[in-house]
Amino acid sequence: MTYPIVSKALKNSGIQPNLNDYDTVFKNFRWQQAADGISLPAEADSINIAAIALDRHQQSAKKDQVALRFLSKDPTALPEDITYLGLWQRANQFANVMTSLGLQKGDRVFCLCGRTPDLYMAIMGTLKAGCVFSPLFSAFGPEPIRARMEIGNATAIVTTTRLYKKKLADWITELPSLRYVLLLDSPEDPELTTDQVLSLQPLLADSSAKFNTVKTQPEDMALLHFTSGTTGKPKGAIHVHQAVLAHYMTAAFALDLHPQDIYWCTADPGWVTGTSYGIIAPLCHGVTLVIDEADFDAERWYRILQDQAVTVWYTAPTAIRMLMKYGRELADQHDLSSLRFLASVGEPLNPEAVIWGMETLGLPFHDNWWQTETGGIMIANYASMDIKPGSMGRPVPGIEAAIAERTENGGMRLINDPDETGELVLKAGWPSMFRGYLHEDERYRKAFIDGWYFTGDLARKDDGGYFWFIGRADDVIKSSGHLIGPFEVESVLMEHPGVAEAGVIGIPDEVGGEVVKAFVGLKPGYTASDALAKDILGLARKRLGSAVAPKSLAFSDNLPKTRSGKIMRRLLKARELGLPEGDTSTLEGSGQ
Ligand code: AMP
Repeated sequence: MTYPIVSKALKNSGIQPNLNDYDTVFKNFRWQQAADGISLPAEADSINIAAIALDRHQQSAKKDQVALRFLSKDPTALPEDITYLGLWQRANQFANVMTSLGLQKGDRVFCLCGRTPDLYMAIMGTLKAGCVFSPLFSAFGPEPIRARMEIGNATAIVTTTRLYKKKLADWITELPSLRYVLLLDSPEDPELTTDQVLSLQPLLADSSAKFNTVKTQPEDMALLHFTSGTTGKPKGAIHVHQAVLAHYMTAAFALDLHPQDIYWCTADPGWVTGTSYGIIAPLCHGVTLVIDEADFDAERWYRILQDQAVTVWYTAPTAIRMLMKYGRELADQHDLSSLRFLASVGEPLNPEAVIWGMETLGLPFHDNWWQTETGGIMIANYASMDIKPGSMGRPVPGIEAAIAERTENGGMRLINDPDETGELVLKAGWPSMFRGYLHEDERYRKAFIDGWYFTGDLARKDDGGYFWFIGRADDVIKSSGHLIGPFEVESVLMEHPGVAEAGVIGIPDEVGGEVVKAFVGLKPGYTASDALAKDILGLARKRLGSAVAPKSLAFSDNLPKTRSGKIMRRLLKARELGLPEGDTSTLEGSGQ
């Protein structure tokens, strides 16, 4: 099914977009513009993310603006506001604690806590002290936490007493590199605190609220983000201080952040989106960030959008689909008129979701694409550009993206014909590009061919320059000579009124090589039956043609998903074929 283009004219919010004329800006863009945007003088002898995100604002009236508006999960608590000055002072105290404990430039500080202001203090203080920050998702169990801290050579971890007791206490002293566990919320407690396990509050209280940010260099490591591969242990992607140029600029272009915005990024800071766009980029822009400590709840989310008068909202397809399930009525009960820009990332955004945004919220969702390794948004839909629903959009100015294939001799070939499927590649060299996989030089080298970074995603580019996601390179199905993108098939299955979620894999077939099999979760009110399976398959065949449509379908009310909501097709396939499941540390519900 083709969806109507969402014209840029329909999206006019009355505010001049940061990126007004895509083609002109793309053609003329130089990264120096990002440096100018953050007032980084050409002769600067250092660059530190926290200096851009916080120190810079202390010289202007910005320091009295609210930086964080914290919404506690305690329903009786009032919202808590922290100004840019207040956050800067807390970060300075934290940096002073780091230094007084003897932590030095390059030491790795992990953080395991929920979405609270302490997390913002910890990341900014860590960076100010010149140390490397590595976020952990608080719903991880002990195993994935340990694996990441081992690979990352953790020097310290900042956490809460509850998480320490539940997930760390049993094994943490066995980590050879670890020197300190810093408990955010615990008073001095002889039962708990030792020379290694310290209560942070008294240390902070004794520390000065002034600190000279360590002069880090553009290529100094700042952030360590873990991502899961198809096989083996998690990979630690190294990011450097210079990445802030991309954080800042891409948020200006793809999220259209303006200084007066009230901005809500719903991603957990345990993942790269929650750090790059949940913390760093918005602070660099000097906006007010809404932080919600609670988990997804449709009613609560609409209330937050309304009561906090959110203007820019960055969320994910799973959340949008969950809101869609609640229907329009709930949205209509709220005044959402403050919203002016909606964006989505992390997994394919179904075209219906773009249209639903238009119909229900009065605004379309702007899909954008990136991954842990890219450090920032690479392909996006912009405020000033038409949206082709289902497309990820066009490359961010400063980014060269293309479709390519690997050749047999280890080289590559760019595919210039429109709409041909190949691997999405990016010309190496943008500021937030990962600079290595920790301890895995060979793996890093293999990710690049002839100066292009191979993303592992399959995509196509249409004749208008828009990129369309097909699937992970290892998810794509080859059936009777046809390359079949699971996303394409799943999107159609999702159009059936009974389907809540769908995952599609290829299973071996003697005749066709592979045939497509669908796994489907049903919406409440629908019951699995042969008749319903036939109905869904019939719709797919009608929409996709018999070469592409699934040949069989199984119902499942528990499709394996990552904690960030992506359906793990690899795991579906392994289970279906009785193969080893590989790394399941990011599987939703595992290790808790
Ligand atoms: P992660 O490194 O965990 O952020 O995952 C990155 C992967 O998520 C990408 O390589 C894609 O496979 C997928 N992804 C991210 N954004 C999108 C998007 N807008 N559309 C489709 N897939 C996406």
